[in-house]
Amino acid sequence: MRIALISDIHGNLEALETALDSIQSQGVERIYCLGDIVGYGANPAECLELVKSVANGVVLGNHDEAAFRVGTEDHFNMIAATAILWTRSQLSLGQVSYLKSLPYTISDHDMLLVHASPSKPKAWHYVFGRMDAVSLKDTFSERLCFIGHSHTPKIFSLSSEAAEYNTRDQFIINVGSIGQPRDGDPRLSYGLLDTFAGTYENVRLEYDALKAAGKIRQAHLPSYLADRLLHGK
Ligand code: ZN
Repeated sequence: MRIALISDIHGNLEALETALDSIQSQGVERIYCLGDIVGYGANPAECLELVKSVANGVVLGNHDEAAFRVGTEDHFNMIAATAILWTRSQLSLGQVSYLKSLPYTISDHDMLLVHASPSKPKAWHYVFGRMDAVSLKDTFSERLCFIGHSHTPKIFSLSSEAAEYNTRDQFIINVGSIGQPRDGDPRLSYGLLDTFAGTYENVRLEYDALKAAGKIRQAHLPSYLADRLLHGK
């Protein structure tokens, strides 16, 4: 079975549509979303409806939570807080209810899905490097833990020094970000797991980032949020 893992869409409809076109063309049977559908970008409501309609499972991200939990923006930097206040004004009551209904984790056979970290998912800790990842080895029992949050695609074996995916080791895999990549590559990022072939691929694709950035400026969101889409930082 082919499973697509998308994360950190952040209201970027152009990136999401491009990713879903690619996913649909690859015979994917299941789509999971690792959270942060909203926040930063100019189309939070549209992205939410699209994810809701295509995803087989969605976990809550910290920006999704901040879209309905007043006060959480106090933990955000000024730019993220400005964007989340605007995002709240764009969502219907039904859309807010949908976000409130999302779980922090989903476990499906040998896969655990969580936005930030398998340890204390509600604390939104970052997993940046191998040391962080290895320290989480005993915090989940599934073989694969898929995460987002840092917007940086990474693959960490917790069982060996392997730098590439294999079907034996336990892994934490960051699938990167659809809507706001931060690894210096502005192309959108998602994960593609093939359980029959025993492969995992990090897919990177160009999308109309200029259009997404233009919408951010039109919405009078901080222009930094538009600029960073073009640089992938
Ligand atoms: Zn995010």
